[in-house]
Amino acid sequence: MARTVSTRGLVLRCIDYSETSQIVSFFTRDEGIVDLLAKGSRRPRNASSSFSSPFDLAGWYDLVYRKRGGDLHLATEGQLVEGFSHLRRDLECWLDANLALEVLAKSFIRGDPHPEMLRGVLSYLKLLSVGKGRQLLRNRFLAEILTSSGVSPRWHLCQGCMRQEGVDLVALRVPVGPICSGCRVATDSLRDPSTFAYLASNGAIPWDRVPAWEVAEEVIADGWDQLRALLLDHLERPPRSLRYLRA
Ligand SMILES: [Zn+2]
Repeated sequence: MARTVSTRGLVLRCIDYSETSQIVSFFTRDEGIVDLLAKGSRRPRNASSSFSSPFDLAGWYDLVYRKRGGDLHLATEGQLVEGFSHLRRDLECWLDANLALEVLAKSFIRGDPHPEMLRGVLSYLKLLSVGKGRQLLRNRFLAEILTSSGVSPRWHLCQGCMRQEGVDLVALRVPVGPICSGCRVATDSLRDPSTFAYLASNGAIPWDRVPAWEVAEEVIADGWDQLRALLLDHLERPPRSLRYLRA
């Protein structure tokens, strides 16, 4: 039975379908990932169009769509709320944003909303305009993805003996997390112990405090390395946009 849904959504993927139409994948507030056919969205100047502009990657829209059988529903209205235009003025920011969109698309299934994750990614895209702390923001984003996916390690305790008090975390075991010197085996990669304290705080620090957070560069880099290893283990296939990033 046809049902109309009003929600807001972030564009994760966008394909031109014809001269005038698009097929767009959104991360929506109320229904999680949704794929929509938007007829006429590439010609929004037509008086009859209910779209404010062609849909564009990383745009945040007010949406109305009609559910149909199958996975592709019919967009009937789309008004741009926030375009995050600053992302397109800086290649590094744009690549980071693209990685975030691609990872979101790969991490969640259709019809499964994650409001906390959505707030997180919107904060991330907005804060990429600050012009500092880009690697910190990226690590914060990955922590949120792992948490929302239910695969985040508890960074303050050894995943071997589960000790927390006075434990000397020295290595990462994929996919479970930190390992102490007593539990470490040859396949666990040795890490800078201070990274674990950073990663334990990383998942909890409020977004707006991330860019100005003072963390040593090598700790941020090691944090990225560990988060990335866990993410790659979690995803079936590595995100393509990962190849374009410079750490
Ligand atoms: Zn242990």
